[in-house]
Amino acid sequence: RRASGEKVKALVTGGAGFLGQYLVQQLVDSGQWEVTVFDIREAKVPGATTILGDLRNRSQVEEACKGIQVVFHCATAAPTGAGALNKSLMDGVNIQGTKNIISACQACKVTKLVATSSASVVFDGHTLQMVEETHAYAQKPMDYYTQTKIESEKLVLAANGVGGVATCALRPSGIFGEGDPLFVPTVAKQAANGKMKYVIGNGKNQMDFTYVGNVAQAHIQAAEALSLDSVLAGSAYFITNQEPLPF
Ligand code: NAD
Repeated sequence: RRASGEKVKALVTGGAGFLGQYLVQQLVDSGQWEVTVFDIREAKVPGATTILGDLRNRSQVEEACKGIQVVFHCATAAPTGAGALNKSLMDGVNIQGTKNIISACQACKVTKLVATSSASVVFDGHTLQMVEETHAYAQKPMDYYTQTKIESEKLVLAANGVGGVATCALRPSGIFGEGDPLFVPTVAKQAANGKMKYVIGNGKNQMDFTYVGNVAQAHIQAAEALSLDSVLAGSAYFITNQEPLPF
């Protein structure tokens, strides 16, 4: 909320999704934000308005950004199932969609853009322990989805300062929590099919998972701290539950 008591106007792309709904809920609950969701499906969070639209449609995106002060760009083309194999969908939503968001932010004088990236942008199949954000992007990303997340993040960070928009990117690794459509349901399905009796590698693999509510909170804290003269401007941050433990 600004000094005048007015609520800050936020747009959440992908606000009907797993992470997006938590973010929208937290923004609404704080009482400090007026929240609009931009998604291809309706968000079911009371107190937020949904604009049904497609990120690939530039004029719809620009219309949605009118009067907005802060954009949280969480939408993504689904990384699993048939969608994951659809390169033009990945390009359209994750790359062209991000370009549309950036140009709409510039045109509509949005002041802050916080984009959801992924920790997988630095993962090339080798062990990563205690890496910092300066770690290079993966030369050979795991899959096409991750390649588009890399492109999208680069676009967001390069746009910092252009047209007065401050940008940053947040990189969660795995996300878990109530309503998770992906991780736990996949594990449960595998278990139901009797496929939980194998070990990947030497059994000592580690993977970072962060609670969805914490990832959502990180977005709000990033937005609050972000400005053109802040350290966040033009930067990416890994998001995790806690300090990594020594290995
Ligand atoms: P999700 O699939 O639950 O939500 C994505 C939302 O984007 C959906 O509501 C979907 O309808 C919307 N969307 C898809 N295409 C669109 C389009 N063309 N126009 C407008 N909206 C569209 O995914 P999620 O797990 O909530 O992921 C949110 C963000 O977090 C993504 O950027 C994702 O890459 C990132 N992320 C997720 C995980 C994870 O484990 N879930 C891990 C790392 C990063």
